[in-house]
Amino acid sequence: MAHTSSIEQAITLLKQDQLVAIPTETVYGLAANAFSDTAVEKIYQTKNRPANNPLIVHIASKEQLATLAINIPEMAFKLADHFWPGPLTLVLEKAPHISDKITAGKETVAVRMPNHELTLTLLRKLDFPLVAPSANRSNHISPTRPEHVQNSLGDKTPFILDGGPCSKGIESTILGFEDGKPRIYRMGTISKKEIEDVLQCPVEVIKAKDTSVITPGMFKKHYSPTTPFLATNNVAKAMEAHAEKKLGIIYFSSPPGDDTRFQYRTLSLQGDFLEAAANLYGVMHELDGIDLELIIAELLPDEGVGASVNDRLKRASSK
Ligand code: AMP
Ligand code: MG
Repeated sequence: MAHTSSIEQAITLLKQDQLVAIPTETVYGLAANAFSDTAVEKIYQTKNRPANNPLIVHIASKEQLATLAINIPEMAFKLADHFWPGPLTLVLEKAPHISDKITAGKETVAVRMPNHELTLTLLRKLDFPLVAPSANRSNHISPTRPEHVQNSLGDKTPFILDGGPCSKGIESTILGFEDGKPRIYRMGTISKKEIEDVLQCPVEVIKAKDTSVITPGMFKKHYSPTTPFLATNNVAKAMEAHAEKKLGIIYFSSPPGDDTRFQYRTLSLQGDFLEAAANLYGVMHELDGIDLELIIAELLPDEGVGASVNDRLKRASSK
């Protein structure tokens, strides 16, 4: 096994309260022992993450859920059975031993079982779960390749468990319960419709202003490149308005234009939402690394996973 030595190294570091960057199907995570406050604090320092932004706990089996949360609704088990391992995070009532450092003082804990063979192997070999936010500086673009972690964290980069590019490419769908009713707090590659099909009931998508569960993942400005960024339904008009600038253009599915002054990228020539999600952050990282004055990104049709990609594009462009 090519990766055995890396996994052993990751285990050694994590047991010493060190951080390790881990691959998942969503984005690379900056992982620490969930049961060590010393280790968890290092995540906040390394990312420069505000202390009020809670962390997702990553587990290797559905059975571990009962050791982290209490009063788990039947619907949560149903969703875990259907979607785990996979990009769905469940927000549940926390067990008393879960540290405030993970939950940012909340009575809830967020848990998911990631779908990446390397990280699942790692988690199975550990006798503690891992907390892991995205492995980037706070408020910057999430990493979907090992080199993005290095570029974002610089000399704070920990050991990276290299699992190749992330297959899904955007953060997990987050779902919690209010008065027993399922609520989506963040859209990802698992759509509202897929969740409703499993639960056989309507599920509401909550906007930050409508809930007491307001968390920084729901704040408007997030996931931003350093280069000014504009998400729009009318790329041609935006290009005209900024024609004198060095532009990067991100199309959803159109082929690149022929103006050699501009850098063109296309998220999915097939017009596939999942492919667009998988390519999104890689393209943003790439264009952000070129000397551009403005990146113009075309919004996707606002439905299903298209809406999840749009959510990231709009946050990247809000000032
Ligand atoms: P990420 O930064 O992608 O790891 O996602 C972390 C996000 O998960 C936070 O910004 C919150 O939106 C959500 N989250 C984590 N823990 C909790 C919690 N205990 N209660 C509610 N939301 C949470
Ligand atoms: Mg993040």
